[in-house]
Amino acid sequence: MNSLQTHAAFAHYEKIRHRLPQAHFPTSSTRIDSLNTFLHSGDGFFLDAFGILNVGAHAIPLAKELIATLRKHQKPFFIVSNSASVPKEVLVNFFRELGFDFTALEIITSREVLWHHLLPNSASQWGVIAQNTTLLEHPLPCVDHEDERFLHSDAFLFLSTTTWDEALHVKWKASLHVKPKTIWIANPDITAPRGNHCFSKEPGFYTLNEEDHLFEQMRFIGKPFDAIFQYAIQRAHDEWQISKERIVMMGDTLHTDILGACAAGLQTLLVEEYGFFAGLDPTPFIEQSGITPQFRLKNYQTLFNH
Ligand SMILES: [Mg+2]
Repeated sequence: MNSLQTHAAFAHYEKIRHRLPQAHFPTSSTRIDSLNTFLHSGDGFFLDAFGILNVGAHAIPLAKELIATLRKHQKPFFIVSNSASVPKEVLVNFFRELGFDFTALEIITSREVLWHHLLPNSASQWGVIAQNTTLLEHPLPCVDHEDERFLHSDAFLFLSTTTWDEALHVKWKASLHVKPKTIWIANPDITAPRGNHCFSKEPGFYTLNEEDHLFEQMRFIGKPFDAIFQYAIQRAHDEWQISKERIVMMGDTLHTDILGACAAGLQTLLVEEYGFFAGLDPTPFIEQSGITPQFRLKNYQTLFNH
């Protein structure tokens, strides 16, 4: 993102801060200055995707070396992503095309976690806001917003903003004022860096800022909210026999990765140079928000002495 967009997104997150999980942050951060200090920071790692592995359709330089290094040193990891627009296999293929070798089990998405919470039979008709409702992993009686029955659905599923805009949102909101419905939101991000100084409006942009009585109808799955962290922590416990205190969440965004992980009891590492804070010093943002990570890493060259 460019600096204006970073400032705007940061201000947006701070405005709705009271709606995000509460956490106790460390008073200062430890600077990661070598591969050795990085590897000693944790026994297992959760990695955000956008801003940590890729920006838009490009792999971040040395991100593949980072993954290879974790494998070489037998540090288990999961990619923990708020990706909700597409089914997980699409994301696995996306990373494969970028040259990453992740298996589907190494990636945990908020969309995947959603299906562990949502009861398909709890509504006789779901209104689904998604890129393509035919790609839903689980059959739901559903309609999209182009169907005239959409506003009369019993519950809603907000997966993606690719087909959504302000006008549709205003119309939808008006219908929710008349009759409250449960709304599941699988990506609470306000924005995501897409490269070339572009940024997208994600479902959190449209939902986190709504009035209290609308907000109370919403169920958020995805960072910084707890469900995705608890799912990943449970899998790490079962599959790696590693407890959360020894797991480091690596992310580029204070209000999703760092805040959510700290609230969930994980270690946190802010990677500064590629995603949310690209081109900026995160220090004033950390000081203003009080969202202090345990560790800070400027870039991956620091690890590999490039
Ligand atoms: Mg990110």
